[in-house]
Amino acid sequence: MRQIDNFINGQRQASTSERNGPVFNPANGERIAQVGLSLPSEAEQAIAVAKQAQVAWGNQAPLQRARVLFRFKALLEEHKDRLAAMITEEHGKVLSDAHGELVRGLEVVEFACGIPHLQKGEHSQNVGSGVDSHSLMQPVGVCAGITPFNFPAMVAMWMFPIALACGNSFILKPSEKNPGVALELAALLQQAGLPDGVFNVVNGDKAVVDTLLTHPEVAAVSFVGSTPIAQYIYATASAHGKRVQALGGAKNHMLVMPDADLDGTVSALMGAAYGAAGERCMAISVAMVVGDETADKLVAKLTPAVAELRVGPGLAQQPEAQMGPVISAEHKSRILDYIESGIEQGAELVVDGRHQPGPGFFLGGTLFDRVQPPMRIYQEEIFGPVLAVVRVPDYETGLALINQHQYGNGTAIFTQSGDLARDFSHRVQVGMVGVNVPIPVPMAFHSFGGWKRSVFGPLNMHGSDGVRFYTRMKTITARWPRSDTREQADFVMPTMK
Ligand code: NAD
Repeated sequence: MRQIDNFINGQRQASTSERNGPVFNPANGERIAQVGLSLPSEAEQAIAVAKQAQVAWGNQAPLQRARVLFRFKALLEEHKDRLAAMITEEHGKVLSDAHGELVRGLEVVEFACGIPHLQKGEHSQNVGSGVDSHSLMQPVGVCAGITPFNFPAMVAMWMFPIALACGNSFILKPSEKNPGVALELAALLQQAGLPDGVFNVVNGDKAVVDTLLTHPEVAAVSFVGSTPIAQYIYATASAHGKRVQALGGAKNHMLVMPDADLDGTVSALMGAAYGAAGERCMAISVAMVVGDETADKLVAKLTPAVAELRVGPGLAQQPEAQMGPVISAEHKSRILDYIESGIEQGAELVVDGRHQPGPGFFLGGTLFDRVQPPMRIYQEEIFGPVLAVVRVPDYETGLALINQHQYGNGTAIFTQSGDLARDFSHRVQVGMVGVNVPIPVPMAFHSFGGWKRSVFGPLNMHGSDGVRFYTRMKTITARWPRSDTREQADFVMPTMK
């Protein structure tokens, strides 16, 4: 069986831990690899290596660092088929979707290639007479990234390309459910010319994470995963003096207005709710429909589309499945519990996806109508192929419900009214908003992040927030007085003269 190692100081290194985690192919339920759940001492070794390697790397010209990333980008393109197949094998998502994930990660690499411009800092001449001021954006040092299972390549690439471009070193702790692709990315970075020790991968679970959160030599922690863990990461790493960005879970609503183009809305909902089996933090899991007449029409169109979803192994082609399996047997049974709770709490099960033949962790698309806000399937993140239709009498009621929800990651409005779309964009308490766009994931040169319990920490992923997160500002105020103009001691707070 394939053994998944660590990557420390430019070398693959088997963990000496006696604990291993299983890695499954969710499409057939077989155990295909095992990953060593590293010891805290192995994380400490990576931190020491990263600390040392960062010094020279941080002193390189930004253009030199950018050139490594240009080469990395070319290698990602060259190896994309192999990487996408690996993502599909370990995660389950269909191959075209795995390719899409890689493209969205690659775009962050492209953004990071512009680091000589992005890291230029600021300069002001004559802030006082004969006094100039300039600000440097210097690297923070050793950065750590802890990533979830659902985008094993893309989420890591939200983080490390910018961190490295800014002159930091990086330690990645991938999800133990599908850690394989992280090692491939490490190998490609090395091939691109990244010096050993600047990028390291330490596999494991809480023991490794806790070492990264508390070790004095780690300066910054980026996290993406579920909300309880995001909150824990934020609280623990902040208490240990680190800067932290921690992105959590979601419950994304699409508000469907009576004037929306219903066929277009149904297509958008199908992809957004069931793509990647609903295991996306930007998946739409609630269709909030204004008016019973609109809801009746929408559910009538959705029902056959959900029932006929092509579910199958992600690597199978001709025709490709539209939806693969979910990540694990445990996650499948969690989703089944949610479906049971929806039935028990009185929601109308319109399409029942519970009975999908195995082997593999498959579920069919599930559709609930007449879901009420107090129900668990409305309140909590299911992270599976389950769409809840909530009927509301008017726009204001829908908007208020979205704003009251604990999560605020993404949302969308489908309407033909520019006025309403503008009002919605302005007033909704959510970080990423789509107008007739179901999955409004910002491009790499904008920043990604939600509001409320979908995020902890002020700076989002990539874009200008990413550059700010991975740099610290130093401001220099300088005067070069001639000796004959030397001033007397001044005991007043300096003001411009
Ligand atoms: P998870 O929180 O279980 O795991 C994420 C990471 O945290 C993994 O690397 C895991 O090893 C580590 N971890 C788990 N338990 C830990 C603990 N007790 N202490 C320390 N570390 C721990 O999340 P997941 O199931 O891998 O991913 C799915 C979740 O991620 C969903 O909630 C989804 O919404 C969220 N997500 C959010 C975004 C976003 O941008 N907001 C993006 C992708 C995924």
